[in-house]
Amino acid sequence: MSLNAESTAFRSALEVIRAVEPRVADAIGAELADQRESLKLIASENYASPATLLAMGNWFSDKYAEGTVGRRFYAGCQNVDTVEALAAEHARELFGAAHAYVQPHSGIDANLVAFWAILADRVESLALKKAQVRQVNDLTEADWFALRRELGNQRMLGMSLDAGGHLTHGFRPNISGKMFDQRSYGTDPATGLIDYDKVAEAAREFKPLILVAGYSAYPRKVNFRIMREIADSVGATFMVDMAHFAGLVAGKVFTGDFDPVPHAHIVTTTTHKSLRGPRGGMVLCGPELADQVDRGCPMVLGGPLPHVMAAKAVALAEARRPDFAGYAQRIVDNAQALAEGLTRRSAKLVTGGTDNHLVLIDVTGYGLTGRQAEQALLDSGIVTNRNAVPQDPNGAWYTSGIRIGTPALTSRGLGTAEMDQTAELIHTVLSQTTSGESKAKYVLDPALADKVSKQASELLAGFPLYPAVDLG
Ligand SMILES: *Cc1c(COP(=O)(O)O)cnc(C)c1O
Repeated sequence: MSLNAESTAFRSALEVIRAVEPRVADAIGAELADQRESLKLIASENYASPATLLAMGNWFSDKYAEGTVGRRFYAGCQNVDTVEALAAEHARELFGAAHAYVQPHSGIDANLVAFWAILADRVESLALKKAQVRQVNDLTEADWFALRRELGNQRMLGMSLDAGGHLTHGFRPNISGKMFDQRSYGTDPATGLIDYDKVAEAAREFKPLILVAGYSAYPRKVNFRIMREIADSVGATFMVDMAHFAGLVAGKVFTGDFDPVPHAHIVTTTTHKSLRGPRGGMVLCGPELADQVDRGCPMVLGGPLPHVMAAKAVALAEARRPDFAGYAQRIVDNAQALAEGLTRRSAKLVTGGTDNHLVLIDVTGYGLTGRQAEQALLDSGIVTNRNAVPQDPNGAWYTSGIRIGTPALTSRGLGTAEMDQTAELIHTVLSQTTSGESKAKYVLDPALADKVSKQASELLAGFPLYPAVDLG
């Protein structure tokens, strides 16, 4: 019997690797087996297509290509130009953006590129006004620092971490918190929702240079039209980090006021979360910021990763196909089915539900910390991650929440009926787990964990992961 193309490709690749370092080949094979067996509910993960994965494993990795398409600091970049231009074109078309910069190596890098682009643009405007130079790169170092001081305001207003914001939105463990003087907006304690009047009030008081919207753990839509109005009212640049929900924007589940691209001055994203591409980042913007964004390398990035840009081009081409919209809608349908299933079984959810790809369970309702719940679920074959809830009584390490997301299981083909079964498994584990003598310790009958693990495997058995890939 002849093998299909995917199986042949991956088997051959492993054979070539095995000849050099068999333990790496084994680990790669083991990773597929583990992913096939686990009920993956990590909201930031997904399963990229075989074509996307294969586009990364080749000699593009060997190329240096600093610069931009057609304007490189290295010779021989014609093929890198082809894939970078393709990835950017697909991104522009998919998101309706004037400009796309596809070099960032990760979401953090994309944000750093955006921050520096915004700063440099402001400094350049100031320099232009004073007729000092035409562009920021012509400034002497002394003038750059003098102008930056004169610019003064280097403040960022973003969503607080415990409300679902991201570390890169001005928080101390990340360089953004050292670059910027940060203040955050949270959510309404009663509803768990963003209170736009409060955001406007904070913006009026704080007068940020950058207003950031976007999140990693907020289970609702954000009205970007209102956020832009707030930014405009205080002269801030409006940036949206859509790392988590880019797939829902690409699939046109988030449209109108909820599509960030027409409203933001600049949009950043990862490519590997709901968008289902390779690990990487991307920046979208209008013509005003395009030149500054294109200086991401060497401003904050090293040489681009041409093999990853090739994979971005493949994944973005996939996201432009009509069936991707169906996938995006199923992500949300599944998240809502999961939320309903959990609520029906008396779980307490932050904001009471979801209108995106993620659900945040407040596990204090089960008398547990996030850390205990995460571990008990893992013992039972259910992979999630703990996450702070607003005003978390257990802090950012132990937390009081479990974040679950549906992009990965939806890629695998699970639907709303399976989400209800998943809710049953989660509720069973959490309701049968009791708190131990510390915020990390818990008691769960190993027989129950085993039983749930088996049920999770049975649930997954009907939805093979990478069905066309047979490693033999
Ligand atoms: C995941 C995430 C990032 C960081 O992405 P990396 O690729 O891990 O650097 C940035 N912002 C938000 C909102 C995220 O959710």
